[in-house]
Amino acid sequence: MSDNKNSEVARKLELLKLRFKEKATQDIALLEDVVDRFNSGRLRADDISTVYHSLHRLAGSAGTFGYGALGEEARSLENLIKPLAAMGEDQLNDTLVVERIRARLDQVLIARVARLSQLLSLEAAAADRVQPVETRVTREQADDTEILIVDPDLDWARGLARNLESHGLSADVFSSLKAAIEHGLDKVSGLVVRDSLMLGEGHLLHSLPVRPPLISIGAEDSFDARYRLAERGVDGFLSEPLDIPVLADYLERLIMERAEGAAGRVMIVDDDPELLEHYGLVLEESGLEVRRVNNPAIILSVLSEFRPDIVLMDVQMGAHSGPNLARMLRYDPEWLGLPIIFLSSEEDREFQVDALAEGGDDFLTKPISDSLLLRAVTVRCYRARQLDKLVSRDSLTGLLKHSVIKSEVGKELARCQRLGQQSVVAMLDLDHFKQVNDCYGHRTGDLVIKGLAHLLRHRLRKSDVIGRYGGEEFMVALPDCSVEQARVVFQSVCDLMSRISFTGGNKEFHVTLSVGIAPLEDYVSVDDAIEAADKALYSRKLSGRNGVTATSDESQSGKVGN
Ligand code: GH3
Ligand code: MG
Ligand code: MG
Repeated sequence: MSDNKNSEVARKLELLKLRFKEKATQDIALLEDVVDRFNSGRLRADDISTVYHSLHRLAGSAGTFGYGALGEEARSLENLIKPLAAMGEDQLNDTLVVERIRARLDQVLIARVARLSQLLSLEAAAADRVQPVETRVTREQADDTEILIVDPDLDWARGLARNLESHGLSADVFSSLKAAIEHGLDKVSGLVVRDSLMLGEGHLLHSLPVRPPLISIGAEDSFDARYRLAERGVDGFLSEPLDIPVLADYLERLIMERAEGAAGRVMIVDDDPELLEHYGLVLEESGLEVRRVNNPAIILSVLSEFRPDIVLMDVQMGAHSGPNLARMLRYDPEWLGLPIIFLSSEEDREFQVDALAEGGDDFLTKPISDSLLLRAVTVRCYRARQLDKLVSRDSLTGLLKHSVIKSEVGKELARCQRLGQQSVVAMLDLDHFKQVNDCYGHRTGDLVIKGLAHLLRHRLRKSDVIGRYGGEEFMVALPDCSVEQARVVFQSVCDLMSRISFTGGNKEFHVTLSVGIAPLEDYVSVDDAIEAADKALYSRKLSGRNGVTATSDESQSGKVGN
């Protein structure tokens, strides 16, 4: 993240701190008014509940803005006043009870409210010095993956770089780790390092704050060799002869895992605008995507549109309660598995367990430090995404499973028709794939399937949706794309695929693929669109494979208006 952006976030956090201070001053003035009324015997019916809510707000937010002692004092007062706030009207009419209240208020408010205001000004000076975001994950997610190959034999390294190129990984070569480090590793997504260099110069990497994932290559594959590399912090090991698709796949997996460290979509629901903004800024700064919801009534529409990995939810939001909202969300099977984490200043374990019973998954107690919030959220997002992958992703390729890609294509069809845009659905199928299995074995066949998946992920846009439709068949939806644009894209995918050399039984071989494409917006149903793309694919198979055929290149049957 650039310094500019950092200082912009710091400025916004500073502004929120100021706003908190203003609000806290108002809250404390309110409490002082109640004390005055109490002293002059003019206590109003709703005064106790006003006091309770003000204290609750302070207890839950002060710590976040650097006013830890104020927050603790407010919490302690809140706990004292809580039994009174829970009383009904009839109890308040009871003179004995009112006497008890009077005694309690005497002891609590008069003696301690004045202290709140002292704490606020005392801590204002200290709060100014607090560095608001304690942990920053500043790693940029590079759009282009740059790999460094570090090997004393530069010719060998260049050969490997060329081979990785055809898998969509661009690579630079260096003859020593020292030279690679001097080049700079900030923008590098992965390192491939000869084991002897790792053993000789690996210590140079220890001084770096972060280093990219690292795979070591070696001729010797033994327990000892692997253990010594693990000691050096190496993430992966491959022995020679190198299988390029395996290396590309390995690199991509490590890079993806690393990139996902601070990735995720978080929806925050809180009625306190300063806290909402503060949490949002802290999480966004570390690379998480955040949607802030101040009004619980819009929660369902935001959920369907944003589809968060997790939800952070306040427990008390004026007329709405977090646990009730959680229970309501679970009415919809779509949100049954969505992790909901309550953020609350409520410390009572029983209350927390009750809230969880309503449909929450976890509890974080306010105030929470920025670094703890970030760690708690990152870990939970990571888990949620892993779980989602397990359910919706194909294990061999990591692409969407049959049913999921079909429903995604359906969503895209509805979207492009609604907006009057052009979109494309494509069916892809490897050519003569049975022969690959027959000649080189099923395992090698699997590597070819992975190779195509890898190529698609790299060559298509982030907004394109890619799935494994069946064995060696893939389906892709390209939003906002014309048939002619899609033809160009897939022709380049076909060309790249045909250039990848695979190895099987010590022999090099190449595989091609055929693609059928259809303009999504032209079809009434997703089944019709898929059938049309499938027909175009079949016609490509008949006319020589290895290339792209569009529905417009052949008969137009099945289209709207025909
Ligand atoms: P065409 O060019 O006409 O598509 O010929 P083809 O040989 O590719 O087509 P066919 O449908 O006859 O064969 C597909 C083969 O793909 C058969 C099946 O064993 C293989 N296959 C399907 N799923 C997998 C898989 O997950 N791994 C491997 N290795 N092979 C698979
Ligand atoms: Mg095939
Ligand atoms: Mg097939």
